[in-house]
Amino acid sequence: MAAPSGAGGVEVLLNTLQNAGDNESMLKVLNVLDELLSAGTDRRIHYMISKGGSEALLTALVKSACLWVIQVFCSSVTTAVLLGRNRGLDVVFKLFSSHTTKHLRTVKAAVDAFTALLRSKVNCRTAVAKGYISDLLKLYEDWHNNDASFENIPIRRALLHCMHRVANTSAGREALVAEGGMSLLFQTTQTYLTVKTLESLVEPAVQLMRKCYPKVPIPVTSDKSIYSFPLPGRPVDGWVADLGPYDGSLEDDSDEDTENEDPDKDYEDDLETDVNKLRPRPEPDRPLEQLGQYVRLCPELHHDFQDLDSSSELDDSSDEDSPLEGDFNNEKLRGRRSQAGKGKSLSPPGSDSSISLGVDDKNPGSEVESHLQTRDFHKHYLNCSEHSQEGHSSMVDRLLEKYGTCIPNHDPRLYASTASDTKSIAGYSILAFPDFWGHLPPQIQEPMAKRPPHVQRKNVFKDIQRLLCAEDIINKDVFDLEDPSLQGSTEGCPNSLRFFSKFESGNLRKAIQVRSHEYDLILNADVNSSAHYQWFYFEVSGMVAGVPYRFNVINCEKGNSQCNYGMQPVLYSVREALEGRPHWVRSGSEISYYRNHFCPRGGQNSQFYTLTFTVTFLHDDDVCYLAYHYPYTYSNLQTHLKMLENSVDPRKVFFRRQNLCDTLAGNSCSLVTITACPASKAWKDLHQLRNRPCVVLTARVHPGESNASWVMKGTLEFLCSDDPVAESLREAYIFKIIPMLNPDGVINGNNRCSLSAEDLNRQWLKPDPILSPTIYHTKGFLYYLNSIGRTPLVFCDYHGHSRKKNVFLYGCSMKETLWQSGSTINTASLKEDPGYRTIAKTLDRIAPAFSFNNCNYLVEKSRASTARVVVWREIGVLRSFTMESTYNGCNQGIYKGLQTGTREMEEMGMKFSQSLLTLRRNSIQYSSRLIHNASALLDLDDRLLDHKSNNCFEDDEPPCPEEIQYSSCTDLFGANDLDTEVNVNMSRIEEDEGKNERRLTDRKSQQLPHFLQQGAMETLSIKSGQCNNMDISNI
Ligand SMILES: [Zn+2]
Repeated sequence: MAAPSGAGGVEVLLNTLQNAGDNESMLKVLNVLDELLSAGTDRRIHYMISKGGSEALLTALVKSACLWVIQVFCSSVTTAVLLGRNRGLDVVFKLFSSHTTKHLRTVKAAVDAFTALLRSKVNCRTAVAKGYISDLLKLYEDWHNNDASFENIPIRRALLHCMHRVANTSAGREALVAEGGMSLLFQTTQTYLTVKTLESLVEPAVQLMRKCYPKVPIPVTSDKSIYSFPLPGRPVDGWVADLGPYDGSLEDDSDEDTENEDPDKDYEDDLETDVNKLRPRPEPDRPLEQLGQYVRLCPELHHDFQDLDSSSELDDSSDEDSPLEGDFNNEKLRGRRSQAGKGKSLSPPGSDSSISLGVDDKNPGSEVESHLQTRDFHKHYLNCSEHSQEGHSSMVDRLLEKYGTCIPNHDPRLYASTASDTKSIAGYSILAFPDFWGHLPPQIQEPMAKRPPHVQRKNVFKDIQRLLCAEDIINKDVFDLEDPSLQGSTEGCPNSLRFFSKFESGNLRKAIQVRSHEYDLILNADVNSSAHYQWFYFEVSGMVAGVPYRFNVINCEKGNSQCNYGMQPVLYSVREALEGRPHWVRSGSEISYYRNHFCPRGGQNSQFYTLTFTVTFLHDDDVCYLAYHYPYTYSNLQTHLKMLENSVDPRKVFFRRQNLCDTLAGNSCSLVTITACPASKAWKDLHQLRNRPCVVLTARVHPGESNASWVMKGTLEFLCSDDPVAESLREAYIFKIIPMLNPDGVINGNNRCSLSAEDLNRQWLKPDPILSPTIYHTKGFLYYLNSIGRTPLVFCDYHGHSRKKNVFLYGCSMKETLWQSGSTINTASLKEDPGYRTIAKTLDRIAPAFSFNNCNYLVEKSRASTARVVVWREIGVLRSFTMESTYNGCNQGIYKGLQTGTREMEEMGMKFSQSLLTLRRNSIQYSSRLIHNASALLDLDDRLLDHKSNNCFEDDEPPCPEEIQYSSCTDLFGANDLDTEVNVNMSRIEEDEGKNERRLTDRKSQQLPHFLQQGAMETLSIKSGQCNNMDISNI
């Protein structure tokens, strides 16, 4: 049928509609109108309405009870607005009815039609202004009270849906709250919980309450970090405008879908398609003459190895501290502290920022020791004392003798003296016990936490009760970094837990007791910024054993968390440590992560999320530490490097720790060189040494990613070990390792940034020498290597991934990027060495936590300034990677279902090193043992590995595909909503992912147990006969 043209046609249609005698002819007319409207412009629709179209429609529809047509028409917001303006709301609302047993279909259709009209926010506000909200609530209550046999659940659901629409506007939310909606919904929902048939009403009601819960600015003085650091060349407080106290006047109507994550974000748009930007372009970003300064960072090339003939005396050209000899006496500690004074101090003049193992005079050591109370531990032994330190050392000795455990590559006294050189903004003077004492991984690997049924719902109910029964809420500040009277003092809070976070890597800004055993915790923003909340690390004490305490971290900012999928925070108990179990363990039950009712002080338009977990402590009055992930401080690293330096045989292992540069705060950024000393001083051996390719490894550019440090610890320890594979690696390569690219961030408890409030992994394109010195000099050093013809064979930057499982690599491939982006460029003519995939293939075989299917090699525009992409493109390193390690655990292989511990992370670091050997087994003629080791590493079936990598485009924080409802704006109403289509698409994606997962699992389960049952040594000494058959040329 041809579309009617001009006014005449529409009028005719409307007339026909109004006078249609039967449903059939009316439907025909409606179809025509529908066509007209869906193809039509606003002007045409407007014209129709002005001709009395909506009246005509409504009359006709009401007459025939064909209310669903309104829903169809209202799929266009414009039509909904126009219908609303023409009394549509009133006409439809009249069809609502209190509880009845008749005309149920009409009532349901009317509610649905009303809901459809509310698609328009203008109509929502009209409905509020006309007082319909109170009527809606009364109707809901009436149906609830009278629907005793639960026969009218669809109508009750429809009413809830309708109120959801109302709640899309701030006026609607306010009206729902003002009319008592929250308590009505809360009470009715409590009864639903007891009746299985009413289950389908619970979730919509809970989500509606969450939506309506009035936004409350986070209870802190300002969104800004309480720590600021004056940046060179910048105004003291110029980094962010203080938005001042919240005035509550912000109107907010832009929040129909306020989730900050867009799962359909088009990653393909992000792929780099400019071939010129995908080609390596090794040319320095600075004058060549500036590169000369990096000569000193290659001491192995200029070393004369005189000591090969003599004893183990060390070269003293090291520009950092020489290794300590294991005898950390008082003299030495004092000497080191006084030296530290020469450096740049961040603390106010006159104050003593050094850390000492002191006791104050009132508590002579022997007495304290005999009445050791765990809760006093840090105060008596680990705090800063301005008094004489005579005697304390021997007391610590006795304590360590009595309680100490032998933790490999850790020494508490060395840690304490090392920490005294660490410069923090707050001038930390107290050591966290776990860092001082050390950590051993527990014997067994811990399973992922089971998610109890409806855990989020239960937690949300508790939150809603705060609003409904405000008088039951304690709301008492018990810890505040800005209030010295609330820092670890027991006075005034006898029935409260005590909190503390003023130590290295600590992050907890404020703790508020909300109920007798429930605390809200507020994290501090990164230094000089107002954002990046995720990392926490704090001490808690004063607990009663066996009582569940609920902790709510209320200012998380990410849209989802692995905590919804089995991940737990970690806990360390001082009492347990003193009893011989110095373990960080996964802890916490009833864990969930969801959007809450708090918002930043600076604006209601952003939102916060709650990470909630419940901890039941084992001991009364213990001192415990809770952290987002296994802490690893800067002082840990420095101690570790000193221990390693001291542990290697200098005749065999060339280990040199140097200062790459100083950070903004004046801490040293270490660069470590590890390689094998030449067999002799003969020219042949020295020549072999000087021709070894370089491998450059970096980690911890993001301070909150402590997992990266544990992986790096595994790499460093392995490379320094006596393992024959490690020996071969040292003979094959010169390792240049910068284990912590962001020391200042780590020290000050940041999550993402450096002191300049910038993400250092977005500075690689043009690093500022003053503001990003560690990146500037790492890049300069890489250019230097490039300029002397020693471009690294491999570059890898270790990271942690907060929303994915497993460990995996991101690399760079021009061809894969072009393929994936659908580019029309003929890639056949482009040459690309496939060697970028070798390491991932090897790791998939030898590293249980590693997942080849999670890897990808796509170059995204948004990552153009990351280490991986810049080192690949500008330095010309073909194998340039980001290695991402999960915070949670694995969903494949033999670690499936288990959370990773530090042992598994260290193992990953070891395996990564081992995988490097496979790159060189064809080219090294020098050691038959090396060839044997390299081949044995790969003694596996190659056929299984020839599949494409999974296309996960995200680098750091992708949306989590798992189906757990954690937010408030998801589809709750099934087929009634247009969201169905989205859901169908989503489930297709999930199916696909499921397939990948299965394929991977199958493959892994065939292979990995073989490796794991045997130790690394056995694995690597498979008979060489087997290796000869291997086709290794494709690797
Ligand atoms: Zn990272």
